[in-house]
Amino acid sequence: MIMKDRARPGIEKVCDAVLLRLWPDNLVAGKLEERRKQAEAGFRGEERVDSVLAEYRHPGPIRIIPDLRLVCGSRFQLDVLVLTQSWACLLEVKNISGRSVIRDIPPELVRITKDGREEALGSPFAQLDSNLLLFRDWLHERNTPIPVYGAVVFAYPSQIVEAAVAPHPILFPNRISFFLRNLSGRPLLDEHELNELTRQVLASHEPYVQRPLCTMYPQVTKKDIRTGVMCTVCGEFGMRWHNRAWHCRCESISRSAHVKAIGDWFHIFSGGMTNEECRRFLEVEDRHAARRMMKSAGLIENGKGRWKTYHQQ
Ligand SMILES: [Zn+2]
Repeated sequence: MIMKDRARPGIEKVCDAVLLRLWPDNLVAGKLEERRKQAEAGFRGEERVDSVLAEYRHPGPIRIIPDLRLVCGSRFQLDVLVLTQSWACLLEVKNISGRSVIRDIPPELVRITKDGREEALGSPFAQLDSNLLLFRDWLHERNTPIPVYGAVVFAYPSQIVEAAVAPHPILFPNRISFFLRNLSGRPLLDEHELNELTRQVLASHEPYVQRPLCTMYPQVTKKDIRTGVMCTVCGEFGMRWHNRAWHCRCESISRSAHVKAIGDWFHIFSGGMTNEECRRFLEVEDRHAARRMMKSAGLIENGKGRWKTYHQQ
């Protein structure tokens, strides 16, 4: 039984907002495009594993929880947690194109692209070791003495993986059922306790809050980012506000085109938006209109007078 939905990676929205607004040939654009591609591939791989698990039939009750963020001393993120009455199992999911070589010293996964370029990524074994340690501690804090297993899953059989030493199983999706079936053991929890543990896991989940661009790429400043409101019909920036509506050169009219632009601002910049900053970014002169726009975009006021800032809820 799958217990919750998997959220799309928040970085996608940041990349989409920023890539439309960066001036052409900005150096960060290529990095963001690459990052978006990786996030999309990672998400697709995780969905592939979810769909295999949705079909899996376990001899006893089973709870499958995708995309979890828990805290035990430090925060940790689990791609998939599987709970039964006898054990817990963490699946670390990878979807990396090209050939992957997992090295032990230093612990890293080297991705070798079709044109022979090498790119070092974090080792999935080291990641799984850390998650196993933290989740065992998390269970210990809750007096739940069940064994915790783990495996690294490569989401597509077309991926080529080499590992000199494999401290944890490496699986492709068609082997997941077999692997889980073989994690035997007598039941240590009754079904009520399993449900209670699942409830505690779900209640402890902290959804990921996506950071804005400027905290990830401090080299991007205001002058790198195009201002203005984009027309959703023709895709051009530079809609003009008059008679309580946005007007585009293509003659389309919108009453709410600022909402997307204000959302873009929060994907790019951190902190609160001031009235002056709102006017600069939306290219409007009327401070009362700017205030109404921020309110209609659902922002909440903080502070008084000229120090007033507006924030997302
Ligand atoms: Zn237009």
